[in-house]
Amino acid sequence: MIEIRNLDKEYKNDKGDIIRAIENLNLKVNSGEIFGIIGPSGAGKSTLIRLLNLLEKPTAGSIEIDGVDLTELDNKRLRETRQKIGMIFQNFNLLSTKTVKENIIFPLKIAGKNKSFRRKRAEELMELVDLSDRADHYPAQLSGGQKQRVGIARALANEPKLLLSDEATSSLDPDSTESILNLLRDIQKEMDLTVVLITHEMGVIKEICDQVAVIEQGNLIEQGNVLDIFARP
Ligand code: ADP
Ligand code: ADP
Repeated sequence: MIEIRNLDKEYKNDKGDIIRAIENLNLKVNSGEIFGIIGPSGAGKSTLIRLLNLLEKPTAGSIEIDGVDLTELDNKRLRETRQKIGMIFQNFNLLSTKTVKENIIFPLKIAGKNKSFRRKRAEELMELVDLSDRADHYPAQLSGGQKQRVGIARALANEPKLLLSDEATSSLDPDSTESILNLLRDIQKEMDLTVVLITHEMGVIKEICDQVAVIEQGNLIEQGNVLDIFARP
């Protein structure tokens, strides 16, 4: 599904020094996996997600998704490919002036779906995340867990094959975290999604990930089956 080869990402800081956020990273994510990337603050996790989400280009190396090299796409193909990648965020990134239903419909509008399709798809998605009774609520009227359910529904609107999660449970209480992780696991099975999630929380990795990569200072420290890696002394 995803093959990352010799990936480098450099930034310049204010003083003009070069920061290597990702250094010669190699990673393979199989289709249908829940793949966790864990590391301390500053490890390069967000950078990696931005590269996967096509928001940024690598300095060197390549990222292939389903055999397509993202670094070689023109703008039109980039937009098409981006629509096939869903994304959820720590702070939900919902539109505060739009209702639950309107937030979920938003990506369907951008994708040019017609009105009756949009309405039907939004109903399905609200049912999937168990928010049908909150369709006309605004984000401020929802709990954190409910906001993230909206985020998940919106991310799935255009039937992505890949879902990226950037610290999606980091601002939730333990009960809401549990319920969001269960939802992600159910959805992954039902839709045969591949999920790549970044987190600094070990518990999240242990709870739902099949594979894990540990990164520190832009380098891959360890990669493997979650049970193998965490069973070691
Ligand atoms: P993490 O998400 O694991 O906390 P990041 O990917 O945000 O790590 O950051 C990795 C490194 O790259 C850090 O040293 C950070 O300061 C640097 N960095 C990230 N984004 C930028 C940027 N836009 N400009 C300059 N440096 C950046
Ligand atoms: P969850 O487990 O989904 O995070 P909570 O236990 O936090 O839900 O919230 C329980 C109920 O309280 C929810 O049904 C929600 O509608 C309501 N609620 C929580 N926070 C707020 C808020 N800031 N404004 C209005 N209602 C809220």
